[in-house]
Amino acid sequence: AGRENVRLGEGIRSTLTLLNHKLKAKHISVEMNVPDDLPMICGYPGELNQVWTNLIDNAIDALPDGGKLMITGEIDREFVLTKVIDNGTGIPDDVKDKIFDPFFTTKGIGQGTGLGLDIVKGIVKHHNGSIKVQSQPGHTEFSVCIPIE
Ligand code: ADP
Ligand code: MG
Repeated sequence: AGRENVRLGEGIRSTLTLLNHKLKAKHISVEMNVPDDLPMICGYPGELNQVWTNLIDNAIDALPDGGKLMITGEIDREFVLTKVIDNGTGIPDDVKDKIFDPFFTTKGIGQGTGLGLDIVKGIVKHHNGSIKVQSQPGHTEFSVCIPIE
């Protein structure tokens, strides 16, 4: 399938529905701030949903019971900028430069494949977009820029 015009809010909502059981089990509160009138993204909807799934899944793993997840969408020049923010453990500095490497994981055997962010990186690249991470204990923010249609 080729590129389509994708509405960010729809992708985020279906991802949250998919991960609902995991969010509920950890009593995570979700704040979603994605305006309905955001310009559409030009991309591959299935791939983009994989990005949101992997980022939100990681956030859930990093969050304590009762933690907070926030997802925002905004215009940034010719991009839609999506942020996935959690108030969990944070990413230690010595770990930060390895998280996008294939098979790098800090999770136990059978818990993590270490492929989530490698896949995210590949999909973002396929969309001519960019991704960055900012993290300190209690606050982690993944920012993804994807070109507007
Ligand atoms: P996996 O989830 O299978 O471990 P990923 O590629 O998705 O593999 O993530 C790699 C590593 O990046 C994780 O093991 C974790 O150490 C770190 N990480 C990713 N997202 C977060 C986050 N939101 N908070 C803290 N650490 C994170
Ligand atoms: Mg992961």
